Amino acid sequence: MSFRSIEQLLRKNSKTKISRNIADGVHDQKEEQCVQSLRELLLANNELPEKFDDYYVLLRFLRMRGFNILKAKEMFLNMLKWREDCSVDAIATDFKYEEYDAVKRCYPHGFHGVDKFGRPLYIERIGLVDLSKLMQVTSIDRYVKYHISEQEKTLSLRYPACSLAVKKHISSTTAILDVKGLGMNNFSKSAREVFIEIQKIDSNYYPETLNQLYIINAGTGFRALWKVLKAFMEARTLAKIQVLGTNYLNKVLEAVDPSNLPDFLGGTCTCPTTGGCLLQDKGPWTDPEMVRASKEAFGKGQKSFNELAAIISCENFTGCQEPSAKQVDPSSRRKITLAMLLKDDQVGIDTSENILQKQNGDQISEKIQELEDCAAQTKETLQTLICKQQELMSHIEQLRKILRGDTSADNKKAGIQNLK
Ligand SMILES: [Zn+2]
Repeated sequence: MSFRSIEQLLRKNSKTKISRNIADGVHDQKEEQCVQSLRELLLANNELPEKFDDYYVLLRFLRMRGFNILKAKEMFLNMLKWREDCSVDAIATDFKYEEYDAVKRCYPHGFHGVDKFGRPLYIERIGLVDLSKLMQVTSIDRYVKYHISEQEKTLSLRYPACSLAVKKHISSTTAILDVKGLGMNNFSKSAREVFIEIQKIDSNYYPETLNQLYIINAGTGFRALWKVLKAFMEARTLAKIQVLGTNYLNKVLEAVDPSNLPDFLGGTCTCPTTGGCLLQDKGPWTDPEMVRASKEAFGKGQKSFNELAAIISCENFTGCQEPSAKQVDPSSRRKITLAMLLKDDQVGIDTSENILQKQNGDQISEKIQELEDCAAQTKETLQTLICKQQELMSHIEQLRKILRGDTSADNKKAGIQNLK
């Protein structure tokens, strides 16, 4: 949240540690110090536009640069320069992608509901892309602009709406990339160029917005391609990617409820609109009330989710179990509303210790998950290498036989064929 709004909230509420924790959404102390240092550094040189004066925005850049303040500052300034050079603000407000439906028909992709935590779920069926048709209905330049406008929409609308819907701070996306049928052969040079350009934009200018990416239906063709693509990706991004084969469903269902997963991926959703699930853009961000709330808070320039939470009263949301007014001292009513919107669960006002403990627990669980994913990936890579080694050994053996001249003509032919 912006420091300005922290101050406003603190003025409104009491200045106890507990209310500060609630208003801030509980910050890690070391992280907060880094954010503060980065902020001061940027402000000293007049390099922090009001729109980006936000705790979570600065934190994303610090995380991406391993909390190296100078490197995070450099990355942040590069982002500002890129926004200026490419007129990103104008793309966000004015760019019209008239070919949207046509593009989606030959390149099925889109946001579809949320994961179990409440983050937006993004699905792309890149294996089904009809590239020549895609290049007939759009251009690489316009596709990249469309991608940027979608990223801006996610930051300014999808995350705030998701945060309000689950009363937790949401600032990342869970994604599923279906690569069925995709390999070196049908991933042409221009497709690779688009992929690399988009990767560059996402990791340089929208860092740390990916929670987890499941690549599903990865066959041998894709795995060969993956080795090339990996070279263009940041290590931190790679750690969030799981490459799964055709038995992906159980793994994906750990993160996504079947009702949010389209039926073609093994879930139960069949959106009724023409074009099905991926044209729908279904999610809390299409709820008119959420759109109104988000625009109200973000329309006059960037404000934080916490400030947004203060604007919206808790009663607007179904399922919110606010204690009855009788039990609540009127002066603490606003605090409870904020607490319910910001905390990870709904158990009334928590003590600061409990909040911190929960935060630590969540961080450790997240770390365990991250390490488990890394271990699984390492295992997979090792298995691929062992297979490759066995293949090579068999080729060597065949070559030796040819060299000894003790094979039939057919075997020779097969041996040479295998080497191609
Ligand atoms: Zn659907």
